[in-house]
Amino acid sequence: MKSRAAILWGMNQEWKIEVMDVDPPKAGEVLVNWKAAGLCHSDEHMVTGDMVPPAEVWPMMGIENFYPILGGHEGAGIVAAVGSGVTSVAVGDHVSASFIPSCGRCRYCSTGRQNLCDSGIATFAGGMITDGTHRHHVNGTPITLMAKVGTFAEYTVVAENSLIKVDSDYPLECVALVSCGVATGWGSAANRAAVVAGDTVVVVGIGGIGINAVQGAKMAGATRIIAIDPIEFKREKAMEFGATHTFASMEDAMVSVNELTWGQMADKVIMTPGVLYGDMMGLGISLAGKGGTIVVTAIAPISQTHAAVNLFEVAMWNKEIKGTIFGSLNPRADIPKLLGLYREGQLKLDELITKRYPLEEINEGYRAMRDGENIRGVIVY
Ligand SMILES: [Zn+2]
Ligand SMILES: [Zn+2]
Repeated sequence: MKSRAAILWGMNQEWKIEVMDVDPPKAGEVLVNWKAAGLCHSDEHMVTGDMVPPAEVWPMMGIENFYPILGGHEGAGIVAAVGSGVTSVAVGDHVSASFIPSCGRCRYCSTGRQNLCDSGIATFAGGMITDGTHRHHVNGTPITLMAKVGTFAEYTVVAENSLIKVDSDYPLECVALVSCGVATGWGSAANRAAVVAGDTVVVVGIGGIGINAVQGAKMAGATRIIAIDPIEFKREKAMEFGATHTFASMEDAMVSVNELTWGQMADKVIMTPGVLYGDMMGLGISLAGKGGTIVVTAIAPISQTHAAVNLFEVAMWNKEIKGTIFGSLNPRADIPKLLGLYREGQLKLDELITKRYPLEEINEGYRAMRDGENIRGVIVY
């Protein structure tokens, strides 16, 4: 069949709308009709190259070229067809994309760490995670799917392991947001940082992830939630989502966090700027007090190996620096859990969407993201 698709043909190019050939699903695969896709910053990292492995590494990954890529890893849609052996979803089911597949059997899945599932290893390689062959082509050229889901298309074939069935009463654009940004941000605070009642939490960077770190910190009982972003609109949004104080920069926040906490500084600091550079870590770590936890959520340039870390401070103040992917949550358990919190009115999702775009306006959507106009833009089909 044919599908419209937003393809990236190389670094520093615009997304191009193409007509893509989509083959039928094979064993363990599902054809999904995507209804909504979030414009997450991670797809932008494919454009800028921050998340693109150096070309020297491509042969080791078994690929000749990293591009062309079909973008989109936040998404929700309806199952249109299933291949043989698929048991967890059926035609007509509503599904959330899971940009990290979960097999349920590997060492990590079976110990409650689905965000580290071994089947995620081929995320940047070409072909399907099922058998390594391609189901998607444009004029005969095989297309790699972002995070093996490729939600910037009306139809893609994905592995059953990359889909999570959700109740059909949820708005699919809300499901799409939960599939990456909401879970990653909420989990960074409520799970990875382990925020508890009474904590002071600093969230650095209020985009689609940071705003949900604010929600997660609030739900976990933080007393003070200090949101830091240079853009006023985002600081205002942070207050709507539960922040108690906002600052334009980490420098601006330093003295005030000291005063607000009577010198104790923050218990938890969550780093979620658009791009995390190593030199930002020094201030981030200093915003945390004794015994503080610093969670690194944002994507840093893939080749960056240096960060400003005062090791004396980390050791003598007993500080902890933790990385996280997907907020260290389990997609299969936690995507339905977060949607349940939305249904009960405890998690804001509708309010996250700043603007909706047709697929043809994807480049405008990303311009708005870069210029700080959107908390989250969403493509609706
Ligand atoms: Zn994302
Ligand atoms: Zn697994």
